[in-house]
Amino acid sequence: METIRGIGVSGGIAIGAIRVLDTVDHAVERRVVDDPKAEVERFRAARDTAVDQLKQLRDRTAAEFGEGKAELFDTHQLMLQDPDYVESIEDLITSSRVNAEFAVNSTAEQFAAMFAAMDNSYMQARAADVRDVSRRVINVLEGKRGGGAQDGDGDSHIILAEDLAPSETVQLDRSKVLGFVTAKGSANSHTAILARTMGLPAIIGIGDGFDPADDGHTAVIDGTSGMVFVDPDEATLTEYQGKKAQYEEHLRLLQELKGKPTETKSGQQVRLYANIGRPSDVTAVLANDAEGIGLFRSEFLYLESRDYPTEEFQFEAYKEVAQKMGDRLVVIRTLDIGADKQVGYFNLEHEDNPALGYRAIRICLTRPEIFKVQLRALLRASVYGNIAIMLPMITSVQEVRDAKQILGEVKDELRGGHIDFDGHIQVGIMIETPASVIMADELAAEVDFFSIGTNDLTQYTLACDRQNPNLGRFADPHSPAVLRMIRMATEAAHRHGIWCGICGELGADLELTDTFLEIGLDELSVSPTSVLPLRNAIRNHENG
Ligand code: PEP
Ligand code: MG
Repeated sequence: METIRGIGVSGGIAIGAIRVLDTVDHAVERRVVDDPKAEVERFRAARDTAVDQLKQLRDRTAAEFGEGKAELFDTHQLMLQDPDYVESIEDLITSSRVNAEFAVNSTAEQFAAMFAAMDNSYMQARAADVRDVSRRVINVLEGKRGGGAQDGDGDSHIILAEDLAPSETVQLDRSKVLGFVTAKGSANSHTAILARTMGLPAIIGIGDGFDPADDGHTAVIDGTSGMVFVDPDEATLTEYQGKKAQYEEHLRLLQELKGKPTETKSGQQVRLYANIGRPSDVTAVLANDAEGIGLFRSEFLYLESRDYPTEEFQFEAYKEVAQKMGDRLVVIRTLDIGADKQVGYFNLEHEDNPALGYRAIRICLTRPEIFKVQLRALLRASVYGNIAIMLPMITSVQEVRDAKQILGEVKDELRGGHIDFDGHIQVGIMIETPASVIMADELAAEVDFFSIGTNDLTQYTLACDRQNPNLGRFADPHSPAVLRMIRMATEAAHRHGIWCGICGELGADLELTDTFLEIGLDELSVSPTSVLPLRNAIRNHENG
């Protein structure tokens, strides 16, 4: 048995076979082949297998996430059947007598360079696609399982990977994946947040404990303690089977809190909402009895698309969430890409400090044509439920005024076109920069609510990169500096008669529930799986 210690970022225990995901590119070896004809046949067979895998992936994606998301895999299939691409590979094998893996890789690089050099941003983004499908063919040739993180065929398994990007995590097959373990990563990364939303046990930062040779071996992972046991001995297996049963019993007991009010023994009430990344997460929100959605990270609609999502696509997504939530509030945050959420087709320039760079509201205010599409979709969807709009990464009053000016223009356009929307839609901001806390009184006069993004607020207040797993105690979100920021923002909100909540991960931290009640936060928005544990803590609060 091998014992590895990582950082548990999403609770729960999983026991199952490890599947190693190839999320990093390895060098492809060049070999001379004796029989180029046979090598061409080997390539064709691998290509056909890859196309079959993509067909399955396409159908599964369509069933789980809808036709729109599945289109990417249609494009990938077409790429593998493109005559120029196929001819280039087969010519290389025949003329240079090289192995198929090498020919596929060289052709992929050549096509990717060609796409990247094009003027059109859509075509530039295809560079990543051609590399992705080619990696799938190479994996088949090398006898590995398919193409990276999108692959989910076979039995249930625990994913082991060097790292997982948020976009790779959302593509994991939830019906098969029991949990995941990564060598890199950090607790506040969006990958960790997604794991909590998906209710998947997850461990990050195992570093050198990552060994691709563990593929196929049995493992026990404990997402609360961060422990991983590869080839567990009988005693460990029995112990963790027991712990797993206990954990499931604990979850079952929490179910009894469904429908009960979120209030302390002395009657202090807090609105308990949930965070989501895509419409299908609403199922978990309802299953965990959240009273609303306090943060819909709309950028995941962009992360999962291969091009700018259209107004219609977004409208359908927002409408679906609003309708499913009925009259419960749904706070939809406008596009927050940049930093760790990179979207190829935005063609954002490389930045040395992306967390301090061109992201979120800064993109929306400088590229209003993109922002307006989202605002139109949001406003149109607002008649189907109780939607509020939330602006991320605000640092000044002027940014809010500029955003509201653009919102006003979009409202006028809709009125001109006799298109309905909720004329009283609430507009709020995220409080996630120290500047927004310092300016909280002025900002509160401009908006309907505040929601404190403690993930970024901690990063910017303590000058600790949230993606860096090595900062340890320096990145302490319990720091008095962060807690004082939360108090300052809440008090400013209340002075101006608006509500203030927390939608960062700290909201679910049960060690701070008493503090948040004392500060007087009006709302806490947490991962769906944290809703009932938090309701339990609030209901047990003694001195409220
Ligand atoms: C935050 O920063 O706390 C937040 C909720 O936003 P995100 O984690 O998506 O940056
Ligand atoms: Mg944030």
